[in-house]
Amino acid sequence: MALDIDQLTVRQAVVGLRTGAYSSVALTQAMLEAIATRNPAVNAFVWLDEADAMRQAEAADRARQAGQQGVLLGVPLAVKDVLNVDGHPCSCGSKILRGYTALYDATAIARLRAAGALLVGRTNMDEFAMGSTTENSAFGPTRNPVALDHVAGGSSGGSAAAVAGGMALAALGTDTGGSIRQPASFCGCVGLKPSYGRISRYGLVAYASSLDQIGPITRTVADAALLLGVMAGRDALDATTLDQPVPDYNAALTGDLRGLRLGLPREYFVDGMDPEVAVAVRAATARCRELGAQIVEVSLPHTRYAVATYYILAAAEASANLARFDGVRYGFRATGEGAPIDMYKQTRAQGFGCEVQRRIILGTYVLSSGYYDAYYLRAQKVRTLIRRDFDAAFAQCDALLTPVAPTPAYRMGETMDDPLHMYLGDIFTVTANLAGVCGLSVPCGRTAGGLPIGLQVLGPAFGEERVLRVGHAYEQSRQGEAL
Ligand code: GLN
Repeated sequence: MALDIDQLTVRQAVVGLRTGAYSSVALTQAMLEAIATRNPAVNAFVWLDEADAMRQAEAADRARQAGQQGVLLGVPLAVKDVLNVDGHPCSCGSKILRGYTALYDATAIARLRAAGALLVGRTNMDEFAMGSTTENSAFGPTRNPVALDHVAGGSSGGSAAAVAGGMALAALGTDTGGSIRQPASFCGCVGLKPSYGRISRYGLVAYASSLDQIGPITRTVADAALLLGVMAGRDALDATTLDQPVPDYNAALTGDLRGLRLGLPREYFVDGMDPEVAVAVRAATARCRELGAQIVEVSLPHTRYAVATYYILAAAEASANLARFDGVRYGFRATGEGAPIDMYKQTRAQGFGCEVQRRIILGTYVLSSGYYDAYYLRAQKVRTLIRRDFDAAFAQCDALLTPVAPTPAYRMGETMDDPLHMYLGDIFTVTANLAGVCGLSVPCGRTAGGLPIGLQVLGPAFGEERVLRVGHAYEQSRQGEAL
C-alpha cells in the first residue's frame, strides 16, 4: 500500500524511518507520486528532478544501514526557488535567472543536508520574493490547495501550498515582510520567521538584506522547532548571524502557558479588518488565557507607518541587490545589436517582471540625491521608532498575539491591478522584519467559507523559544479540531 504523506509530520517521518516502518526511498516515492497527481492543479513546484530525489533517498537508506544517524536522515524537504542548492536551478521565480544552476549550497541547506535531509524540488514564489500572492511568478501563479480559486499567499506560496496540499512534509521559505507567515496562514500551515541573525542568509538570493530571513513552513509547531534547531547558529559566511548558543527548541514545547504574559497590541485590531479574522484571533487569545497566560493590552504606536517605511526600505535595498542581474553574470541575456549598455537595458526590461521593475524604480528614486533624506533616511528613523515600540512592548510582556493578516486569502487576480491594496495587507507582518524580532504563524480557525485564518505570535529578538512554546500549547489545545 502506498505511504500516505497527506498529514505526515517531519517528526513522525523521523520515527517511521528510524524504526524501519518505511524507507526513505518509499517516503520519497510517495512524495513524488503526490506531486505528480496534485501539483498540476496547484503549481506549488516549479522544478523537480525525480531521479536526483531518488538518488538522495537511496544514499540516505544506505547511510542508515551503515549505522549513520542524523536528526533528519532520509526526510525529504521542499525548497523555495530563492535558496541555492548545489546543482539545482535557482530562478527566484524570474525569467532573468532562466538557465542558472546553483554552484553551492546555502548554509541553511548545507546544515539540513548534514542532518541527513533530502532537498527535493523547487517551490514557486513571487519573483525575487516581491509580492504577497505568488501570482508574480515567471512560472505562473500558485493556487491555494484549500480553495483553488484563491491565492496561496506569498511570496513563499509554493512552499505553503506544497505543505498544505499534501505534497511535502515541510518546506523552506523566506520572510522579508511576511513571506513565510502570511502564506502559512492563507494555506493553514505553521510558518516561522526567525529573528534577524538567527539563521545564516549565505546562499539566499538577497531581496532586502536588512530584513530577509530563512525559515520553515510545516504542519506542526514542533516540526518548526526541529528545523529551526538544525539551521540556526553563527556562520562565518554571514556576518549578520549572531554568536548566540542555539537552545534546545524542543525543550521549549512545554504544552502550557503558565506564568507567561501575552500582549495584545491595540493597533493590530483595527477597523476594516475582516470580522471573521478578528473573531478567530480573539477566540485564540481567550484560549491562551485558559492555558494559563495572563493577557495584557499593549501599544505599538508607530504601526501605522510600518507599511510605508517597509516599502521604502525594501525597495531601496532591492534596487541595489538586483543591480547584479545584468545579462553578463547569470542566467538570461537579451540578444540583439548595439552597445553593451543596450544589452543591459534589454536584458533587464525583458527579464524582470512588472512588480520587480516597479520596486527597482521606486528604490532607485528614494535613494537618488535630493530625495534620499526625505525618503530613505526618514524611513530609517521611523524604523528605529518601530523597533523601540517593540522594546517597550516586550518590557511589559513575553510575547504578542496578533492576526497574521487583516483578511484571509484573496481571490486569484484580486490584487493584481491594485498593488497598494496588496501592500496594505502586509501591515501586521512587516513590523517584525523592521524590528528584527521573531514571529510564528499558527492556524487558528477558518472562515465560514472554509478559508484558513492564522494567529501570529511575536517574540523579542532571539526569543524563538517563547513563540514556539505559545504556538505549540495553543496548537495542542486545538488538536482534533479541523483547522
Ligand atoms: N509582501 C511583501 C513584499 O512584497 C513581503 C515579501 C517577503 O516577505 N518576501 O515585499
